Amino acid sequence: MAEYDYDVLVIGAGPGGYVAAIRAAQIGLKTACAESRETLGGTCLNVGCIPSKAMLHASEYFEAAAGGAMAKLGIKVTPELDLDTMHGQRKDAVKQLTGGIEFLFRKNKVDWLKGRASFEDAHTVTVAGKSYTAKNVVIATGSSVTPLPGVEIDNAKGVVVDSTGALELASVPKKLVVIGGGVIGLELGSVWRRLGAEVTVVEFLDQLLPGMDGEVRKEAGRIFKKQGMELKLSTKVTGVSVKGKKATLTLEPAAGGESETLTADAVLVSIGRRPNTEGLGLDKIGLTLNPRGQIETGHDFATKVDGVWAIGDVIPGPMLAHKAEDEGIAVAENIAGLTGIVNHDVIPGVVYTMPEIAGVGLTEEAAKERGAIKVGKFPMLANSRAKTNHEPEGFVKVIADAESDRVLGVWCIASVAGTMIAEAALAMEFGATSEDIAYTCHAHPTHSEAIKEAAMAVTGKPIHI
Ligand code: FAD
Ligand code: NAD
Repeated sequence: MAEYDYDVLVIGAGPGGYVAAIRAAQIGLKTACAESRETLGGTCLNVGCIPSKAMLHASEYFEAAAGGAMAKLGIKVTPELDLDTMHGQRKDAVKQLTGGIEFLFRKNKVDWLKGRASFEDAHTVTVAGKSYTAKNVVIATGSSVTPLPGVEIDNAKGVVVDSTGALELASVPKKLVVIGGGVIGLELGSVWRRLGAEVTVVEFLDQLLPGMDGEVRKEAGRIFKKQGMELKLSTKVTGVSVKGKKATLTLEPAAGGESETLTADAVLVSIGRRPNTEGLGLDKIGLTLNPRGQIETGHDFATKVDGVWAIGDVIPGPMLAHKAEDEGIAVAENIAGLTGIVNHDVIPGVVYTMPEIAGVGLTEEAAKERGAIKVGKFPMLANSRAKTNHEPEGFVKVIADAESDRVLGVWCIASVAGTMIAEAALAMEFGATSEDIAYTCHAHPTHSEAIKEAAMAVTGKPIHI
């Protein structure tokens, strides 16, 4: 009889966990994955990346029709919002994709252990009252919404909601206040603004999108304002009270000062996410958390407890699905004795608004701190495809080491920046210089030519400006 029930037991079936489980099974390891949700796919497929993109895509078309962008192309339409159908297509995308993971589990012979898992010891996990042993356990429990003290979220009532509630609002709120001008606030704020809501974003810091390049953050603020969002920067929410279907928020300058009130039909709390570790029984295996509540691992994703590994949102690093997926592949390969590596210096990030905002590598500020740099910039206004498509907003910025010319970071604001940034990530992964990008033939007319031109601008020689 085998010493353990499984070679690998993964806790959590989000992009980190399900990918780890599938790769482990592909390698030939006997694998199970515990998931407490009704469906596989984690935050990303159920209430995150996928449903938010379904609403962003649909609302983008609505706005293009309602806001005159289509009329500019010679297409006259007067759109009518059918929110139920819009929600229906969102639910359908989620159903198909989560069902797809179930199919992949069956295909790869990964056992889905249905229920909430917790450790008994480092090699024994209980799921729905039953114990399973495994030589290796991978913690991939993801993250949940960070609550705002004193503010009660009630997604069912639909007045004060988190991202899950904001995806499902049954009607377009007349006034929506978004607390937190990060990725979720701007994406979901954009959805409801496009569908007709007056949106106010309250952000604690003096700019939106912390972590992104300074110039990109500033330009993003200008664009969202131009689109009609009201931005209250350097402002904190000190309280939210709800009466019936209306909320009243009390705001104060972040540095302290006179307070003001705002009323809203809906309030989205999007001030970040925190790792899921509660109820896992980490005390039973002697695993402690860092001050941010995360599980620390080595580069191989092993924790300090033998046989226990961790990946995804529950460990340090950006909370992104593709980062979790890559860590899922790497951890499975490391468990199998192969070499699984994730280059955390090259993880692209994308905000799926219109225009999209994307970056990979160092910001200009961080690069300057490390040494001398050269920067090349190219405006989308001068890119023939963007101009033809009536998408003039944004720019591309390439940051390179002044001496070696090696690319340290690339930032884009453009309608398809999320697609464009893949090229920059690949170039950086291969240690490209700005000259390498500048001398790579790019198809014409494409938005990606702006990356080539920004790379040419590093040496002061762009052609089209
Ligand atoms: P998760 O996806 O959170 O999965 C963890 C799973 O573990 C969950 O299903 C949970 O039920 C399960 N679980 C937890 N504890 C237990 C337990 N004890 N037993 C059994 N099961 C357990 N990222 C992007 O890259 N692109 C995007 O466009 C994007 N959009 C987003 C939009 C929104 C609204 C949100 C909220 C997030 C978005 N993200 C996006 C972030 C992305 O969803 C996460 O980074 C990603 O899902 C993390 O993957 P994970 O596998 O670490 O964890
Ligand atoms: P975030 O960290 O992106 O933004 C939170 C914002 O809230 C920050 O700007 C922060 O300064 C602000 N804030 C914090 N406390 C505040 C307060 N009391 N009052 C006002 N503002 C306050 O977090 P998020 O938008 O909630 O997203 C959570 C995670 O999900 C992110 O880490 C992100 O990586 C991930 N996500 C990614 C995508 C994507 O890749 N497109 C989309 C959605 C979510």
